[in-house]
Formats: sequence, structure tokens, C-alpha cells
Amino acid sequence: MAKAYNPYENMLSVLESAANMLGLAEEDYVTLKYPERELKVSLPIRMDDGSVKVFEGYRVQHSSLRGPCKGGVRFHQNSDMDEVKALAAWMSFKCAVANIPYGGGKGGIKVDPSTLSKNELERLTRRFTAMILPLIGPEKDIPAPDVNTNAEIMGWMMDTYSMFQGYPVSGVVTGKPIEIGGSLGRGEATGRGVMFIADEILKKKGMKPQDCRVAVLGMGNVGGVAARLMHKAGYKIVAVGDVSGGLIDYNGIDMDALSAYLAEKRGNVVKDFKTATGKFVTNEDVIACDCDLLVPAALENQINASNAANVKASIIVEGANGPTTVEADAILDAAGKTIVPDILANAGGVVVSYFEWVQNIQSISWTEADVNEALRKKMVLAFDEVWTKAQEYKTSMRMGAYMTAIGRLVAAKKIRGIFP
Ligand code: GLU
Repeated sequence: MAKAYNPYENMLSVLESAANMLGLAEEDYVTLKYPERELKVSLPIRMDDGSVKVFEGYRVQHSSLRGPCKGGVRFHQNSDMDEVKALAAWMSFKCAVANIPYGGGKGGIKVDPSTLSKNELERLTRRFTAMILPLIGPEKDIPAPDVNTNAEIMGWMMDTYSMFQGYPVSGVVTGKPIEIGGSLGRGEATGRGVMFIADEILKKKGMKPQDCRVAVLGMGNVGGVAARLMHKAGYKIVAVGDVSGGLIDYNGIDMDALSAYLAEKRGNVVKDFKTATGKFVTNEDVIACDCDLLVPAALENQINASNAANVKASIIVEGANGPTTVEADAILDAAGKTIVPDILANAGGVVVSYFEWVQNIQSISWTEADVNEALRKKMVLAFDEVWTKAQEYKTSMRMGAYMTAIGRLVAAKKIRGIFP
């Protein structure tokens, strides 16, 4: 039987390969194999029916070498310490690739939020914030949205932290509502960044958006936004998928209509969307559909040893964190596919989180046009650096991205030294 997928081992394996390719000694990068801090908390919540349920939560700080730890909080029934540890490490690498002055962290609660009422969700969020309070703060560790969390939840976190401090602290979380210090453009930033990266890889391949058929797996804040913006920019979206299954329409999916339908009310899913020529399929069919560009933008482990050989797209842009296993990566590489890795492709969210934090610290606000243009510049620069590194070492973009990140982290470690 195949070994159970462990995202942390996946991360370690890629880290090791990139460090070897850079010719680093184990001592140079050994600290990156271990998170700096791991906190596990129990969260007793009074449910609406009067009963008490205890949930488990996590906050992991992987590295503060280049700045405060930074990374989202996800609410998911399968979340566990190994997942959060991997996600925290990926944040350190992502912030280093994007060259923003942050380390990496991540948080999670093991819960299916669709089973909670809004009041229960708020109590859970506030209790979690109180329990991780000693770790977080604008100079220490700054949470943000991730899978199943959003601006409203960030607002509750900001309020809870501020109540303990006795004054408003907007910079403790990013991805907040605009009214309390959120940034214009943050909501769409990850999806927009995915599109900027798709634009760049297309240029390298001599392709135009109009000639590019796209499949997107995941219709949340990353995949949903990326598909809508790409549709608007002229890409042809031929397949999408979410938790309910997939939809394929080689005539092109009207993403404006689908996005409006999904946003209409909580619980709306792809399979209930009315379409004239589309066919409802499984997520595996979306992965295997006839397209040029595949954007996995849901959870980890979507493209694995069992389905990698089915991928027809020649380009994969990773909107999710860790969507491709090490085994799948090797299969896709051998088949000559170009993969733009997660730590580059989905960095748009944390880049605009950084802009939000800068605006909070300076008590100013930028226009949406300024945010989007600054994001584009950061993404294009990071893409070019990774592309150049991959060319220089004649390797994949994943290795190019990891080498760029590890190079920066190891340089910071050398300068800072080991305490005491
Ligand atoms: N959760 C997002 C990510 O995985 C954003 C993190 C942030 O903005 O801090 O990159």
C-alpha cells in the first residue's frame, strides 16, 4: 500500500533537493528543517444548543529569520499539526521568494466550519485568538485568511487581540475588512497574482491568453477569483471544480455568471449551476481534461502519483499550497510539463498582506490601482528571478524557486548567527 501523504515530509524532501543543488552543507540549512515554535491549543466552545464542544487549534512559527512570522489560519476538518507545520514552512519560502521582510507561520483549527452557526464560528475564532495571543502581534506573527477563513473572521481576531491590549491594533492580522484597516485589493490579491504569473509563463512559451484553455480546481478565494479575472482577460476557462465536483465546457464557461451564482449565497456549489452546454464531471476529470493550463487551487495532494500521468495541460500554475506531491512532480517533469510552484504562483496574497501591514504601520491607505500595480511588479520580479535561477541550474521552476528562497534564508542565518 502507498505510504500516507505527509505534507511536512513532502516539504523536507523538496528542501533537501534544493539545498543539495545549491551545494549547501547540512549545517547551513539545518534550522529550516525545524519550525521555531509549535503551539497546540484546546478550544472549548459553548454551542448554540447549550452543550460544550472542544476543538483543537494550532499555530506554528517556522522561521523569523527575515522578519515577523506571517501566514494564514485555516479552518478545516482534516487540519493537523503536520499540515500546519508544512504550511508554515511554505510561508517562509514564499515570503523569501517574493522578497518581502517576513518569515513564515501558519495556524489552523480542526473543524468543518459549515457545521457551525455564525455565532459558534465567532466564539471559536475569538477563543482561538485568545489562546494563541502570546505568540501573535504586528512585530511577532501576523495571521491572515486561508482555507475557509475570510475578512470577517480577521475582523473578530483583530478585535479580540485589541481588547486584550486595551487599544486598537490593526496590524495584528491582514486580510481585514477595509473599514478597520484592510487594504483595497487584498481580497482578490492571490487570484490576481496567479493571473500575473500565468501571463508571464505564457510569454515565455510564446502563447497568448486567447489561445490558452484553462482548467481551475477550487472555486474559493484563489481559484474562483483567478478564473474570473483570467476569463475577463481573455483566457478560455474550459473546466472548473469545487467540493461538489467539476464542470467541463469546451465552448468556454461564463465565469461572470458562475462567480455571481457561487457568491449569491453560502452553500452554492458548482454542481447546482445551470449551464446550456456544460457537462458535470468529477474533479479527476477536471485534472485530466483537454486544456493548456491547469490551476490546482484547492488543498494539498490534489495531483498525486495516481493521477499525474492523466494531466494533459502543458503548464501547471499552483494556486493552492502544496497541491502536487513529490512523486507527481517527478511524473510531470518527466512528461515535459512546466510547473510554476505554489511558493511563487500564489504569493500574491501575502504580498498584498505585506502592503496592508505597511499601510497599517504608517496609518495611510493606498488606492486599489496602486496596490494592483505594486503587486504586479513584485510578482513579475519574483517570476523573473525564479526563471533565471532555474535556467542557470538547468532545473525546474520549483527548484529555482526553492533555491531562491533558501539562498535568502541561509544568507540571513549566516549574518544573524546562532544565539547564544
Ligand atoms: N493564506 C495565504 C497564503 O497561503 C496568505 C497568507 C498571508 O497573507 O499572510 O499565502
